[in-house]
Amino acid sequence: MPHNTDILILGGGLAGLRAAWAAAQSAPKLRVSLATLRPVPSGSSFANANGQLGMQLPQTDRERDQFFQEILSLAEPGHISRPLAEILVQEAESRFLDLDSLGLRFQREATGKLLRRTACFSPHARAAILYDLPHAYQRLCETVSTLGVDLLTGLETVSLLMDNGVARGAVLRKAGVGTKAHAMQDASMEYRARAVVVALGGPAARHPRHMAGPGSTGQGWELLQAAGAQLNNTDFLQYFWLNVETRQFRSPAEIAGPLAVAMTPDGREVAPSAKVLSLADARSGHCPAAWGPVPHQGELVHDYGMDQWLQAQANEKGVVRVKVDRNPWEQVALFVHSGNGGAVIGSHGEVHDLNNAPLPGLFACGECTTGMHGANRLGGAMVTATQVFGRRAGNAAARFALGA
Ligand SMILES: Cc1cc2nc3c(=O)[nH]c(=O)nc-3n(C[C@H](O)[C@H](O)[C@H](O)COP(=O)(O)OP(=O)(O)OC[C@H]3O[C@@H](n4cnc5c(N)ncnc54)[C@H](O)[C@@H]3O)c2cc1C
Repeated sequence: MPHNTDILILGGGLAGLRAAWAAAQSAPKLRVSLATLRPVPSGSSFANANGQLGMQLPQTDRERDQFFQEILSLAEPGHISRPLAEILVQEAESRFLDLDSLGLRFQREATGKLLRRTACFSPHARAAILYDLPHAYQRLCETVSTLGVDLLTGLETVSLLMDNGVARGAVLRKAGVGTKAHAMQDASMEYRARAVVVALGGPAARHPRHMAGPGSTGQGWELLQAAGAQLNNTDFLQYFWLNVETRQFRSPAEIAGPLAVAMTPDGREVAPSAKVLSLADARSGHCPAAWGPVPHQGELVHDYGMDQWLQAQANEKGVVRVKVDRNPWEQVALFVHSGNGGAVIGSHGEVHDLNNAPLPGLFACGECTTGMHGANRLGGAMVTATQVFGRRAGNAAARFALGA
């Protein structure tokens, strides 16, 4: 027997919960269900190893313009949708205020004044810092539950139900059930819905070395693509250098800096060239390796030369042995932090097909989508995107379901 609901949200991260909140608020008479893998904080939103998240928060027209220009300057060689980037910038502050109104914990001075810090790729202190992520998860779950959203946990999305290009729900199965075909059939259930919002997170977990939190599967792109969605910018993953053992972030400005030497796979010690060293200042301004040149002190700098030098010393497993000053040798490697690509969406989270037409009833938000940033993403802009486009997708799904 299939289960029926009006709006089905897939994924319990910042994007999915924001979409559920908006959908339940804008269509209180409709049934909203949110299905996700784990009953506890999960994904990159609530279970990432850093334990805190920056959120871009421009508060004046000048800061909004600055934010917008920075997004554009980082987009190449990827593709950006200016209208989506404009929406992101214009609605960032309101979406921050929504979260703040729930009592989510943002860093403040002793006086209570909100602290804003610089974030990757920007010298401007515009990012609010959300900490205590389990508390954020709890408050968002309470908020959506109070609005009547069914929180269905322990369910894995296996596929999206499409009928001639129209979204009709999803096939879910109990998490942890074997992957053999017959077991899948026995355990899988159809959840039919008038509108579906996909918020299954980014692709990092598909890679053996990644930084996404528990509960991340990296399946969002595949499921969306199988449903007919157009994907874009999928080459542009964000990679961080981490110590393989401790999983601590290691800045290339240090491990390929003036005090560093690397061991080549054939046992030679090599030091970075003067050209590589000249990039250290620019490279220290962002954690992920950049795709393309990045603005630094009024110029465009190809600072990925530092990452390329490290990679050139990697063994066949992608591991580099480095030593900084008198410290012991350590092993570092690139880990996938997140993705900047995903499903192409319109301004209300409507998922586009290969002809750029919306797939009726299918919406998406969060890290499984793209367009509001191109190849590189400004630090803190993804959390903002989960809120801006999560709310928009939830509202649009509600409108669609009401009219369906
Ligand atoms: C260590 C780290 C630090 C970061 N720091 C920042 C930062 O400071 N600022 C910033 O803007 N961004 C940051 N990011 C990126 C940002 O956290 C994420 O892009 C964002 O939180 C993604 O939100 P989401 O809701 O789209 O996905 P997620 O939070 O990943 O949520 C996806 C949800 O879907 C569920 N799910 C996945 N697959 C399935 C399936 N098949 N079936 C059922 N459920 C499924 C997951 O369990 C999870 O609940 C960071 C990422 C990491 C890893």
